[in-house]
Amino acid sequence: MKFNTALLHKDYDGDPATGSTIVPIYQSSAFAQESAEKLEAVFNNKAPGYAYTRISNPTVSAFEKRIAALEKGIGAVACSSGMAAVTMSLLNILQSGDEIIAGAGLFGGTIDLFGDLEAFGITTRFTDEVTAESVKNLITDKTKAVFTELIGNPKLNVVDLQAVSDVCHSHGIPLIIDSTTATPYLIHPFDYGADIVVHSSSKYMNGGGNSISGIIIDSGKFKWDKNRYHGFDEYAKFGKFAYLAKLRNGIWRNTGACLAPMNAYLNSVGLETLGLRMERLCSNALKLAEFLKTVPGMEVNYPALADNPYYELVKKQFDGKGGAILTLRPGSKEKAFKLINNLKYAAIATNIGDVRTLVIHAASTIYTHSTDAQKLSAGVYDDTIRISIGIEDAEDLIEDFKQAIEKIQ
Ligand SMILES: *Cc1c(COP(=O)(O)O)cnc(C)c1O
Repeated sequence: MKFNTALLHKDYDGDPATGSTIVPIYQSSAFAQESAEKLEAVFNNKAPGYAYTRISNPTVSAFEKRIAALEKGIGAVACSSGMAAVTMSLLNILQSGDEIIAGAGLFGGTIDLFGDLEAFGITTRFTDEVTAESVKNLITDKTKAVFTELIGNPKLNVVDLQAVSDVCHSHGIPLIIDSTTATPYLIHPFDYGADIVVHSSSKYMNGGGNSISGIIIDSGKFKWDKNRYHGFDEYAKFGKFAYLAKLRNGIWRNTGACLAPMNAYLNSVGLETLGLRMERLCSNALKLAEFLKTVPGMEVNYPALADNPYYELVKKQFDGKGGAILTLRPGSKEKAFKLINNLKYAAIATNIGDVRTLVIHAASTIYTHSTDAQKLSAGVYDDTIRISIGIEDAEDLIEDFKQAIEKIQ
């Protein structure tokens, strides 16, 4: 099955109970069983079925199955948000005293989260660029996970996944990838050695900017050493499903990080057009980047431009596609604000992965809590505009940027 066919048909049959082509919104908190014995069996994972929506729900399960199939994982757990997915993916394996290695160019919320984890005795060692070399240099006997995004947002640096996963595995450490900005359209991280993948499915998977959600997918390949990973003793009996079983029966369930059925439904509908949208988004982004490069005084960053330092990696890992985010530096904060204010089509908003083009001045918004050093590591300058490209016609977008740029020159 190729990508667009898989989006519609892989591990998906609609709703077996009714024949509905889309699994409906099972908007129910609890599910009654015909006997006390049956409910006992469902509760104890001895029979399939549903008991309570914080633990499982048919609409949510259908979404999880589709994403697991799409990412070639053995299973997935949906969460209330991308941040919940990032948090749960790590807390499932960490305890006080442990260390994480992470890229400094991560999504701002994730950087803030790693700060919060300090209070629980979990320390993060940041590196400006996640490479085999930099990771190797930061590993200690306390390192329990390496966490990175594939295409930094908004730094737009690209990680060599195979090289980094090789280093992790030679030290018995799992590699957790936030693949939100890459999406399964650009890459299947498990093919390059990633162990756990998380997505903010609020973004490209949803596609319409209408609901928040996150998801964690397991490759099933990492061997969790029960002497090194807290609590895995109890779950060893689940074999390759140990990580997912621990997550479902532990921290994810107990913190109430579950996805609402309504949001799972909206995400499932959006997911079906991921391939079509990404094709258009990548093509639009490249066209706009190529135009912006011709404008004197503008610095444009887009990984799929031939002179970008990550171009070779983009060809190798992403089949030459650069994703749907580009950044632009017009020279000063004043010019950046004026340019943004003069755009006709782009909404001034903090999101990515919407069908419409969105722009934001990064330093004064998503990075407002960061120190100057953190901003620099994240590739956020005083004049950086992040553009999350939409599916509008490329000619209109180029025309719009052209007229807005003329007003600041
Ligand atoms: C948006 C985003 C998140 C957080 O997701 P929410 O759904 O907003 O909680 C995490 N990682 C990346 C790369 C993101 O873009």
